[in-house]
Amino acid sequence: MTSERYAQLSSVRWWRQDLLKAARAIVVGAGALGNEVVKNLALLGWGTVVLIDFDRVEGGNLGKSVLFTEKDIGLPKVVAARAAAARINPDCTVVPLDGELRTVAGAGLFARMDVAFGCVDNAAARIALGQLAGLTGCLLVDGGLTPWEGVVRLYAPDDTGPCYVCTLTEEDLVDLTLRHSCLAYARRAQYGQGVPTTALGASVAAALMVQQAVKWIHDDPEMLPVPVGEEIRVDLAHDRYVRIGLPRREDCWLHPRAASPASAPAGWVQTDTDWAGLLSSWRGASDQPDAVLRLPMEINARVTCLQCGTVRSIGHIQASTGSPGDEDNSCAECGAQAVPDLSNVVTGDETWAGLSPGATGFPPWSWVQAGLPGVDTVVHLELPGSPPEPELAGLDPRGRE
Ligand SMILES: [Zn+2]
Ligand SMILES: [Zn+2]
Repeated sequence: MTSERYAQLSSVRWWRQDLLKAARAIVVGAGALGNEVVKNLALLGWGTVVLIDFDRVEGGNLGKSVLFTEKDIGLPKVVAARAAAARINPDCTVVPLDGELRTVAGAGLFARMDVAFGCVDNAAARIALGQLAGLTGCLLVDGGLTPWEGVVRLYAPDDTGPCYVCTLTEEDLVDLTLRHSCLAYARRAQYGQGVPTTALGASVAAALMVQQAVKWIHDDPEMLPVPVGEEIRVDLAHDRYVRIGLPRREDCWLHPRAASPASAPAGWVQTDTDWAGLLSSWRGASDQPDAVLRLPMEINARVTCLQCGTVRSIGHIQASTGSPGDEDNSCAECGAQAVPDLSNVVTGDETWAGLSPGATGFPPWSWVQAGLPGVDTVVHLELPGSPPEPELAGLDPRGRE
């Protein structure tokens, strides 16, 4: 039954359906663009698609989202998209992760993917995605829409090429550095007034994006070159197609560097090991009794009220629940503004050191850095355990199968 589905594709000279069947992609954003990317991947028989978004389907999405119908309104976008993809092609497994990118996807998830598709609509989300893909050596195919344009950029899976931050202007950078919490900003931006876009721009951009990924999977640079480090722009208002090289900035302040995690020390096995236990097993394994762990997100230990001095323990990453701008640090007693105590270093003395990474809001397979205080050593370690989704449980990191 399914072989008939791919009969025409297999007559393409270089087409390898087996490569697509084994391929894994992460799609960040299930808006108009993410819908089109998932639709294309499903039609082609792409094996595994991890889809990430924290939004719910609204009536306004129906005009440009091929995977959503009236009855999906109110459902998580990723859940509605999975059901639609299964109808399009049951060979394609869509794994829905309902939440903010950095709270549902550890770097290790990217290390297990062949391609990452960026289908987001704001700078903070692009930066977060660029960091995860760049750190783990995952090709990033980043799509964007303007009212009448589809824009696709390809960022190299190593640090030799440009990254998204390299391409920002001084003005963009000032605007971004004014935002203290990228996570909170990403949330607010998502709910802000986006640019008006259409299904047409989305379908053109998504076709270009998936085509690049298909070439990448076939790994034949001679016959199927992939324009890594370049931007492709299709202007539907004036029927123009432009391809330009992106600049790489030597002084880029956030240029991602590809890394591989070190082997985990003994004792680094239980999913429910707490931060103190993880730290002490690393101290023992590395013979560095003063070693610390540095986390990719800050943990809010407690909030202290500026007015009445009431202290409330938190022990969780910021902005992990609820709707935009609800990083509610107000005092439960008097309602005045309370100040969070944030830290991304584990020394073992933290009030939350007895909590597990999961309990403090870190997704499975997060990467943490281990080293000595004040020394810029970069040893990456992957947190133990496996995601709860059965489709992801057995995935080996790319290149280590
Ligand atoms: Zn850069
Ligand atoms: Zn108070």
